[in-house]
Amino acid sequence: MIEDKNQSRTSLEQLGEFGLIEHLTKNFDIKHKSTVKSIGDDAAVLDHKSKQIVVTTDLLVENVHFDLSYVPLKHLGYKAVVVNLSDVYAMNAEATQITVSIAVSNRFPLEALEELYAGIETAAKIYNIDVIGGDTTSSTTGLIISVTAIGEVNKKDVVYRSGAKPNDLLVVTGDIGAAYMGLQVLEREKEVFKVNPQNQPDLDPYTYIIERQLKPEARKDIVALLKQLEVKPTAMIDISDGLSSEAIHLCKQSDVGVEIYENKIPLDPQVISTCEEFNIDSTTIALNGGEDYELLMTISQQDFPKIKGNPNLTVIGYMTEKERGMHLITRGEQVVPIIAKGWNAMKNEA
Ligand code: ADP
Ligand code: MG
Repeated sequence: MIEDKNQSRTSLEQLGEFGLIEHLTKNFDIKHKSTVKSIGDDAAVLDHKSKQIVVTTDLLVENVHFDLSYVPLKHLGYKAVVVNLSDVYAMNAEATQITVSIAVSNRFPLEALEELYAGIETAAKIYNIDVIGGDTTSSTTGLIISVTAIGEVNKKDVVYRSGAKPNDLLVVTGDIGAAYMGLQVLEREKEVFKVNPQNQPDLDPYTYIIERQLKPEARKDIVALLKQLEVKPTAMIDISDGLSSEAIHLCKQSDVGVEIYENKIPLDPQVISTCEEFNIDSTTIALNGGEDYELLMTISQQDFPKIKGNPNLTVIGYMTEKERGMHLITRGEQVVPIIAKGWNAMKNEA
C-alpha cells in the first residue's frame, strides 16, 4: 500500500555506504552539552558529569515486529525511537542521546530510507535527543532497525522495578489497550485490501486507536510531572507487553502482591466500542494487549494527595504482602488471579 508511493527511486548502490550515511544523517543537530562528539568519528564521546547513565536497546525486525504493508516508514522510524525512550523514562531518567543501526536490502530505494530517517528526525526533535551514531549494513531479507537510547538521572531519582512495598498505590498513566485494538483494525483492513484493493476503508471511527498503534508516544511528560509534584515512585516500568505482565514484573522484582480493580482501569471510548465490534472483552485487552508505552508505577500512600485528581495518573489498585498473590477484582467483585498472557498468546484467542 505504501511502497509505491515514492515517485523517484534512487538505488542505494548509487550512493555507496558512506554517501548513504552522510545523506541520512546530515540534518541531525546537537542539542545537549553532554554530547561532546557526535557522528563522524570511530565512536561518539559523552560527558554526563555527575549524573548516572541509563542505557537501553531494542531490535525491530521486519515481519516480526512490523509489517510494511500498513506501517508507513516515517511512522516506523518514529516508533523505533519512541519505544526506546519509553524505557529511559521508566527509569525516571531524561533521554539525551540515541544511536540508530539499520540493515537494509536493496529492495529499498534511498527515498524509503529518507522516509524512515524523517521519522527518526521528528522524534529526535520532539523528544529533544541527539542522534550520535549508529551502523549501516546490508541485509538479504528485510529491514532491521536497532536503536540504543542513553539517558541521565540524578542518583537519588532513579526508579527501579524492585522498590514497591505493600500498601503502595498502583498507578497507571493515560489509557491502555488502544494500540492493540488499533492493530486489530489494521490487520482486518489488510485482509479486506487483499481481497478487494479498490476498497477504501472508513477508518474515521478508529483514528485514536490506529494512531496509538502507528505513532505511539513515550511519557517524557510524566517524568517532568512527577518532579513537579515532588513524587518519586517506589517502582516503575513501561507498559510494552500489557498491564498483567508488567504488574507481575513489579510484583516479582519487589517481592509483593497486587490487587487491581477492573472498574478503575482507564480505557478510551474508542477501545470500548471497537472491543464491542470485535466481540472481545475490553478488560482482557487492557490486561494483555501491548505497545501502549504508558508508565505503570507504585507510589507511597503518603503521596496520594499530590497525585489526586491529576488527569494523567489513575490509581488502579494497591500492592499487598507477597503471600496475598496477584489478583484482579472484577466489577462483580470476583477475585481472579492475574496471569501473564502477553500479546502473542492473545493472537490465537482473538
Ligand atoms: P565504522 O566503520 O567505524 O563502523 P561507519 O562508517 O559505519 O564507521 O560510521 C561512520 C559514522 O557514522 C559513525 O560516527 C557512525 O556512528 C555513524 N553512523 C553509521 N551508520 C549510521 C546510521 N545508520 N545512523 C546514524 N549514524 C550512523
Ligand atoms: Mg559501521
